[in-house]
Amino acid sequence: MTSPPSLGHPVYRDMPTTIFEHMSARARETGAINLGQGFPDAPGPTDLLNMAADALLTRSSQYPPMAGVPELRAAVADHYARHQGLSLTPAEVIITSGATEAIAASLLALVQPGDEVLVLAPLYDAYLPLIARAGGVARIVRLTPPHWRITRAALEQAAGPRTRFLLMNNPVNPSGIVLREEELAQLALFCVDRDLIAICDEVWEHLTYDGVRHHALMALPGMRERTVKIGSAGKIFSLTGWKVGWMCATPSLATLLGRAHQFLTFTTPPNLQWAVAQGLAKPENWFDTQRAGYQASRDRLVTGMEAAGFVVLPSQATWFICIDLAASGIAMTDTDFCARIVDEAGVAAIPISAFYPDASVTHLVRLCFSKADAVLDEAIERLARFRAEAVAASGEAR
Ligand code: GLN
Repeated sequence: MTSPPSLGHPVYRDMPTTIFEHMSARARETGAINLGQGFPDAPGPTDLLNMAADALLTRSSQYPPMAGVPELRAAVADHYARHQGLSLTPAEVIITSGATEAIAASLLALVQPGDEVLVLAPLYDAYLPLIARAGGVARIVRLTPPHWRITRAALEQAAGPRTRFLLMNNPVNPSGIVLREEELAQLALFCVDRDLIAICDEVWEHLTYDGVRHHALMALPGMRERTVKIGSAGKIFSLTGWKVGWMCATPSLATLLGRAHQFLTFTTPPNLQWAVAQGLAKPENWFDTQRAGYQASRDRLVTGMEAAGFVVLPSQATWFICIDLAASGIAMTDTDFCARIVDEAGVAAIPISAFYPDASVTHLVRLCFSKADAVLDEAIERLARFRAEAVAASGEAR
């Protein structure tokens, strides 16, 4: 149903439902295996679930402090000191209802009408509407597969005199890349040269593989005072429904971020915050074990898909791999392929064009591997059958 032209903000009026919700809904309707929206199919770490349940029964369920419970603010600061060499005070950490709220709050708090925000495509689908709703103008740097490299020339070309922010994701959903140290150094230099504030969505920071480690842009020279670092317990602890996130920034920025947060969600359920605080204090090897588990799942999906004739792009982070349809002999666009496989093969996936503002890349499809082995194996079998039929059909048509 289309809304009357006078009703609703133009940003939302003609906007479709997010592709993640759309594909999950299609998977629920059809009973397809859902390799679309990124979430694990396991229940999550039992100890954290128990802590949250205990806290729900034995501790307060009333409003916690607006910026988060003190235990969690301190735990985030400690965690980043141990894992990423950052020295943050708890006062520089604000707890949000998920990273999406943190991104929204950062943009609403900092962007002034007409300010330009530099973004790198492929980009998460919330970024552009949130920038527009905050009154900003997105300046897009298009990165191209399979390497998705960032160059100074591309940054220079996209940024203008009104550019005041860089909004970026690293490690990157959907490409599964982790920015290399020289790329990060270049971004930091660019932010310093142009006096930009960087809003860094680093929700995938712990989910890196093959020994590759994430480095926070905030830790680079000149960036400590000009970076908002955003993280998410949902990704770190495989509890995507908890919606516990945070944003970290120097006090002058953090005060502004808090102003936006107080009128978005105000607070986040305290029992979940206490459980996450304990989770962040887990020893290093807990995070290594998580990584190893997801790396094995990635390898299982990549190996299976390759054996089935699919060409898979390298992924060293997140819960996602991308398959290249054209290189796999499948003459379909990503959206056609995803629409067909959910009905015909019983597998839901995400078209990469959803991560570009202009659908300029239409040959890649994202698959989520944070699933049980048996689920991945069944999905591989179904996609193998679908590919074999598609390739045979296009041979006959020729
Ligand atoms: N981050 C998740 C993904 O990329 C989606 C989150 C959501 O649906 N809002 O799949």
